[in-house]
Amino acid sequence: MTRRLLGALLLAPALAQANALLQPSPLPLQYPPFNTITDADFAPALNAGMAMQRREIAAIVANPAAPTFANTIEALERSGRLLSRALTVLSSLNGAHTNPERQRLMREFAPLLAQHRDAIALDPALFQRIDTLHQQRDRLQLSTEQRRLLERRHRDLLRSGVQLPPDAQARLRAINVDLSRLGADFNQKVLAEVNASAVLVATRNELAGLSQTQIDALREPDGRYRLPLQNTSGQPMLAQLSHRPTRERLVQASLSRNARGDGNDTRELISHVLRLRAERAALLGHAHHADFTLQTETAGSTAKVNAVLAQVAPAAVAAARQEAAALQAQLQQEHPGATLQPWDWAYYAERERARAYGYDQAQLQPYLELNNVLERGVFHAATQLFGLRFKRRPDLPVYHPDVQAWEVIGPHGRSQGFLLLDLYARPSKRGGAWANAYVGQSHLLGTQPVVGNHMNIPKPAAGQPTLLTWDEVNTLFHEFGHNLHSLLSDVRYPSLAGTAVPRDYVEFPSQVNEMWQTWPSILAHYARHHQTGEPIPKALLDKIKAAQRFNQGHATSEYLAATLIDMHLHQLRAEQIPSAHQLMATEAEVLKAHGFDAVPVPPRYRTPYFSHIMGGYAAGYYAYLWSEVLDANTVEWIERNGGLKRATGERLKRYLLARGGTEDPMVLFKQLVGHEPHLGPYLKRRGLVTGKP
Ligand SMILES: [Zn+2]
Repeated sequence: MTRRLLGALLLAPALAQANALLQPSPLPLQYPPFNTITDADFAPALNAGMAMQRREIAAIVANPAAPTFANTIEALERSGRLLSRALTVLSSLNGAHTNPERQRLMREFAPLLAQHRDAIALDPALFQRIDTLHQQRDRLQLSTEQRRLLERRHRDLLRSGVQLPPDAQARLRAINVDLSRLGADFNQKVLAEVNASAVLVATRNELAGLSQTQIDALREPDGRYRLPLQNTSGQPMLAQLSHRPTRERLVQASLSRNARGDGNDTRELISHVLRLRAERAALLGHAHHADFTLQTETAGSTAKVNAVLAQVAPAAVAAARQEAAALQAQLQQEHPGATLQPWDWAYYAERERARAYGYDQAQLQPYLELNNVLERGVFHAATQLFGLRFKRRPDLPVYHPDVQAWEVIGPHGRSQGFLLLDLYARPSKRGGAWANAYVGQSHLLGTQPVVGNHMNIPKPAAGQPTLLTWDEVNTLFHEFGHNLHSLLSDVRYPSLAGTAVPRDYVEFPSQVNEMWQTWPSILAHYARHHQTGEPIPKALLDKIKAAQRFNQGHATSEYLAATLIDMHLHQLRAEQIPSAHQLMATEAEVLKAHGFDAVPVPPRYRTPYFSHIMGGYAAGYYAYLWSEVLDANTVEWIERNGGLKRATGERLKRYLLARGGTEDPMVLFKQLVGHEPHLGPYLKRRGLVTGKP
């Protein structure tokens, strides 16, 4: 009898046969059986999963034996597998390929899951056992990983309020339920709005600057052209569109998202979320939400984050002002008397790039064909560093025809995991790019990683090659860096695996992986003309290299503007939170206070569609800068110590990628590069000059 059949018999047979989520996947490495999972499976599997985990927790608590690491902490690690399997697939599909039923399920289950999590986190008997173990931790002969897991469990329960009086706990539970509901609503409004905000134009003249292939792909059945938006404030097509009114329409549509007073307006919702977070932080004894969040991050305190932002922001604005002056001169030539606006920046930056460095994006794109970049670039670098090999697995089911399944084979020749690549934009997918794990690595559970990689690359018309922008190539290397963090994980406990590290550390390995995009041997390997196969001309490569700091004032400013808004909103007490109608004015004040009103650079996300701060990056958007400081220090170390070779990969694996959350991240960082991180390499890379050394 196979394991699958046995599992089915233990559950109600008819139900188990019909519901693909109620048993472990029959596919290799528990790869999700997308071909047999239906939307009707989710609700019963989630309910059964919560019930099962309640029973598992009850058994841990009811154990008459004194608490041990095995009967309490390890037992907790083994609990909730059915729930996590069902929830992982639902939330992944809701992000990558949603539909009304999946959205309804997310709304229905968000509060139930919040209650479920709190029932465990606020269980006094469970805390009693963990607290006992925590007090005995020096005598338990725990491994480093076990000790860290125990400390983290203990800390997390304290942070969820397990020691607060009952009335405060009741309020916390209510806040968490409200926040989960508001979070699900927010995501749905943002997706609906980005689809609803596409700009329709009637004539081809208004699309001047786009290629024939692009224009064909935008054509609607009614003969008009539809310019879809991406989730960021800036829109990639702005770099090409020479018709100024079209650019203006595109930017206005983008910047006004979710603040137009209709059903997709999120301002009221955001104000409400901010108040609830501030109230929760106060209940838990913190000055504000940022203080609560920073406690467990490597940055450690809001003061530290504020200080770095205050140091970098003026340097970024100064660099952006210089860049703006050059763009203004370009604009003047075509539109005498005009002032540089947000919708002019990307277009004239391309002109300026051509003038100052002798090339533009359009020259580059024929050399950036998706499959070449992926297999001869991203995968090739991972082979050189880690000995990984990649094999297409068209036999494995996928949830959308555009998704590709790959098997990742380790240096030992055995399967290391699976990778799902889901790279094209579609209206059912949330914006941006992200990586996830369908199955996490764990020696305790005997599981190997199954990971996903999602982007929003515009899909070309049928039969046309996918030619990437330089930024998209960067994003592919970045997200694959997250995949490597999961794929190379080598830990015992699932809750410490792969990317289970502080928020301001998780972007570190993914940013380090970006370095291979421009590494000469990798770049020469993937950048080949999509028609002739000819390598990219050396002269063009040299120009790209020379232009590496081009437009960094703009890039840093738009990022910092969003970061400062995030930090400001999360350092307020509940009574200081702006109301819905004050929200945009508050945003403008924050930007002005830091000098950003001096440059036509909108924040990378405006508050009403700033998904990061509604998801896991609240008071955490600074994490990209923080991680980039670690990244820039590491890149410097790699460049000095031999660069692209297996020994580098082994070192990255040993001190970073294999370790997940099993060690203090900053201890690992210092072992990796041999010193504390400093700001210098980051500033140098971005061409920024600050008042301080
Ligand atoms: Zn990332």
